[in-house]
Amino acid sequence: MQWLPQGWIPKAIAVDIDGTLTDSNKEIYLEAIEALRRLEAAGIPIILATGNVRAITYGLWRFIGATGPMVCENGGVVWHPDWDEPIVRADGSRARKAGQMLEDKLGIDSRGITTNAWRESEWCLFPDENLEDVAELISKSEFSDLSVVKTGFAIHLMEPHLSKGEGLSIALEKMNLDPSEILAIGDAPNDISMFKLVGHSVAVGGCFEELAAVSKVISPHPHGETFPPLVDAILGETNDK
Ligand SMILES: [Mg+2]
Repeated sequence: MQWLPQGWIPKAIAVDIDGTLTDSNKEIYLEAIEALRRLEAAGIPIILATGNVRAITYGLWRFIGATGPMVCENGGVVWHPDWDEPIVRADGSRARKAGQMLEDKLGIDSRGITTNAWRESEWCLFPDENLEDVAELISKSEFSDLSVVKTGFAIHLMEPHLSKGEGLSIALEKMNLDPSEILAIGDAPNDISMFKLVGHSVAVGGCFEELAAVSKVISPHPHGETFPPLVDAILGETNDK
């Protein structure tokens, strides 16, 4: 299995969480965490890049022992605890108001998913709301500049300039690293922008077709099971040098 370009070692890795560090039941795959710790021990920082909110990302970051910045809410929030402030790239209050408008006109529950309690740059409706109805009403409203994006766990109401790739490029500037030096690992369409940004990319087994289409390598192992052999390959290159 050729995981990496010959002789290439990433300076840092950008890792999605849901569907990527998890097993097929969406629970954390423990051997993936152990593999990430081996990378950190070898001086290769982990950047968590996720659609999830900062509070939850920080908990995982802390307990993994990661040292890179966090890209949260699909690039809406970029943060490292050593920084004075998080970089919040959009005001989530408009997306929240758009949710309220949808409740008034469509009768949906605008409180949305649980993690909205900590959401800073966007608003997330339940994933089983009618996507077409939501998108059509938004497009005809004062919130027509917002994007309506469906993922496995929500319908996101977000400003269109937000993406994991944009958020990751801000994190890399802070780290003085070039995107060409980075390996990204993910599973879903919200990872496409960061796969297009970085030097090398691995889509985990069981990923969405749209991501597989732009990925440099597709793992033969499902989800988090990708990490032990991938990290062996990275550290093998390190040891060969
Ligand atoms: Mg994912």
